[in-house]
Amino acid sequence: MDQQQRARLVRAVAGAVIAAADHLTALDQAIGDGDHGVNMKRGCEAVLGDLDAITAKPLPDMLKAIGMALVMKVGGASGPLYGTLFLELGKALPGAPARGDVACAFASAIRGVMARGKSEPGQKTMLDVLVPTAAALAGGADGAALKAAAGDAAAATVPMQAIRGRASFLGPRSVGHMDPGAASSALMIKALVDALETPP
Ligand code: ADP
Ligand code: MG
Repeated sequence: MDQQQRARLVRAVAGAVIAAADHLTALDQAIGDGDHGVNMKRGCEAVLGDLDAITAKPLPDMLKAIGMALVMKVGGASGPLYGTLFLELGKALPGAPARGDVACAFASAIRGVMARGKSEPGQKTMLDVLVPTAAALAGGADGAALKAAAGDAAAATVPMQAIRGRASFLGPRSVGHMDPGAASSALMIKALVDALETPP
């Protein structure tokens, strides 16, 4: 992957988050403090603002740089968690990964998020999208199946009661709403798959 291709992917994913900021904020207004869209938009704008320098780096270093930017700019609970995801992806991926490398790196990055968040799937968080999507990837899913797995997993957070994060303060009142971090994870995965499958 050359710099132009890396930049296209980063622009697609960051652009999708920025475009969905109001939606993510509305989800967080229902069961949190209403800042998830604003937080993620700030982080993605920081990445786009430094796009040339970030995408000039080889893939693993680029992912680490994105992780650092997210840790520093997103804030809230999601900043350190998404920061960890990208940092660990950068640590685990070789420069020119094969599909199997991506599946392994994704799984190991998710373990980093779980350790950082002291969380696991089933608690109505981003992990409820990341874990099933990683399982689909490891199981050989194609792009369409990956997008479906992520979208279905985000929808499946609606009936869950939150056990981690701010939404857990609501107890049973967190039921009936999609988790904002699950929504942002699903939309990043969809944007990434679309960008990978669309010819430049
Ligand atoms: P904050 O909750 O600090 O306002 P955000 O609104 O940006 O931060 O992010 C909230 C999202 O972060 C939640 O919807 C959830 O998906 C995710 N999250 C919160 N705590 C955890 C955790 N311990 N483990 C995994 N994900 C978490
Ligand atoms: Mg919030």
